[in-house]
Amino acid sequence: MKSASPNANSVQPVHCLFRSPSGRFCRLPIADRDSSLCYRHAFDQRKQASADLLQRLTDDCDEFTTAVGIHNSLSELYKLLAADLITARRAAVLAYIANLLLRTIPFAQKEANPDDDPRLIVDFGDLPRPNRSAIPVAPVTSEPSCAS
Ligand SMILES: [Zn+2]
Repeated sequence: MKSASPNANSVQPVHCLFRSPSGRFCRLPIADRDSSLCYRHAFDQRKQASADLLQRLTDDCDEFTTAVGIHNSLSELYKLLAADLITARRAAVLAYIANLLLRTIPFAQKEANPDDDPRLIVDFGDLPRPNRSAIPVAPVTSEPSCAS
């Protein structure tokens, strides 16, 4: 029977692969096999990734007080999900919260400005208006229209 020989590709590093700016490797054991980093550096890496996501999602959001701000954040969320930089579950939760924020904007504005009367503004823009001067007017007669 042939014994299993060690494969060069299967050798796993024992110590963290983080390299300091001075070029020295971290001496702590690996805690995260996916990144080959120790617990501390894996945590720092995840924290930095979360900070980057937060920056992208809140960069142009107007504190989520306007529909445009929420739209901008949702656009970034779409890009992050499409690039597989965020889990679908997390994106769904963030989209749900954005939906709630969008629905509560009118109520928040009403509370902030209780004296403002709601106004309905209908702007038809450049739609052509009907030509009312061309409508024929029926002549007014004093005689009854039915002869009986
Ligand atoms: Zn480390």
